[in-house]
Amino acid sequence: MPLALTEPLPWQAQIWQRFQAVLGAGRVPHAFLLRGTRGAGKHQFARRMAEALLCEARSGEDRPCGHCRGCHLIAADTHPDLISVMPEEGKIAIGIEQVRDLIAQLGLTARYGGFKVVVLSPAERITVPAANTLLKTLEEPPGDAVFLLVSHYSSLLLPTIRSRCQFIEFPTPDEVDAIAWLSARVPQGADPLALLRIAGGAPLGACEMVENGSYASREIVAEGLAGLANGRVDPVAVAERWRTIGVPIVVENLMSFCQDMVRFRSAEGPPYLANPDLAGALQPVSQALDFTRLYWLYDRCESARRSLHSAVRLNERHLLEEITAGLVARPDSWG
Ligand SMILES: [Zn+2]
Repeated sequence: MPLALTEPLPWQAQIWQRFQAVLGAGRVPHAFLLRGTRGAGKHQFARRMAEALLCEARSGEDRPCGHCRGCHLIAADTHPDLISVMPEEGKIAIGIEQVRDLIAQLGLTARYGGFKVVVLSPAERITVPAANTLLKTLEEPPGDAVFLLVSHYSSLLLPTIRSRCQFIEFPTPDEVDAIAWLSARVPQGADPLALLRIAGGAPLGACEMVENGSYASREIVAEGLAGLANGRVDPVAVAERWRTIGVPIVVENLMSFCQDMVRFRSAEGPPYLANPDLAGALQPVSQALDFTRLYWLYDRCESARRSLHSAVRLNERHLLEEITAGLVARPDSWG
């Protein structure tokens, strides 16, 4: 029986063909940068690339054979020539020691005589000293090494790192493809279209929202927001409640709510909402917060999101208290 290898995502068919052509022609670059929409399936694509590179019986077909030693090892997550570099447990950055270890590992020849594949993710979490240490290896890697850098925010990468990579772009998938895929995966009763829109069009992001509780927490975040906007609740208490949900989830929810509130302020009965099920809660808030405050909230969340994805540690309590204090109704200062 063939092994269960990584499932192809329908909206990636074209980029996959392009990669297959490069692989088939034997012109595999030393380094790829997989970048674009979070939740569009970059990691899954990187994994498929690794499977294709490490299959020992490449037949020129679309997928790895699923039978050879390489395929068995990668399916069991024990392939010695597949090296994964990510922040160590409890840390948020990829540090210089990790990069030194990687370079030492790459100095040895591939165990099974084929490629050595390095998946480095999220690439924007690499510290500047670590990135500088990696540069030379990235430019002239040992002949059998292929780097797959995965980044949601590639603008945060050093230009010297970016310039050494061939880009593979992951735009937001076509909605029809995404819904077809998502429909088979959402829990019963959930509306795949609503979920996809809440996730900003990213299908894997939509699945993640269900799994990590973000989808279920939206009501709590909206409720806190409504309470702050009409001055009924204590901002510190809201900050504390939001902190138990998790800052990344709250930040994503608030950004999505902000976009809908701007839509409410811009048009009566806006034709599109990312959170149509929460319209009743968000519309009054949009009237209580003026554009200045909405844009402030959005900017604050956007910058927090960037920090969450960078190598800088964020003071979560401080951030949430700043946001909730900034939203609380102050009749004297609000026009
Ligand atoms: Zn194989």
